[in-house]
Amino acid sequence: MATMITEECINCGVCEPECPNEAISEGEDTFIIDPKLCTECVGFHETEQCAAVCPVDCCVPDPNNLETEELLFERAKQIHPDKADGLTLSSETSRFRAAS
Ligand code: SF4
Ligand code: SF4
Repeated sequence: MATMITEECINCGVCEPECPNEAISEGEDTFIIDPKLCTECVGFHETEQCAAVCPVDCCVPDPNNLETEELLFERAKQIHPDKADGLTLSSETSRFRAAS
């Protein structure tokens, strides 16, 4: 699932530079995530980097946008064709596999 930012966002901007896909931008009322660019950090990090740095824990999984690790990994490769060979799926501690 893509990550989403809730209305709790205090617009601190800390998350924006952490995103490997430049999916985060300043919205009208809060920062927002483009779900077409969010890979939940799959391919780059084991956990969602925006959620890791957010001081108010408002970067959360979007329950209306469930996606598999494979789909997210394919998206990462499409977004970064120049780096596609260097992208890796998370280790066995992946939250995707831990949940199954
Ligand atoms: Fe970007 Fe990762 Fe947050 Fe998605 S989860 S918006 S890819 S930092
Ligand atoms: Fe909003 Fe959290 Fe990003 Fe700060 S880190 S802009 S509070 S989503």
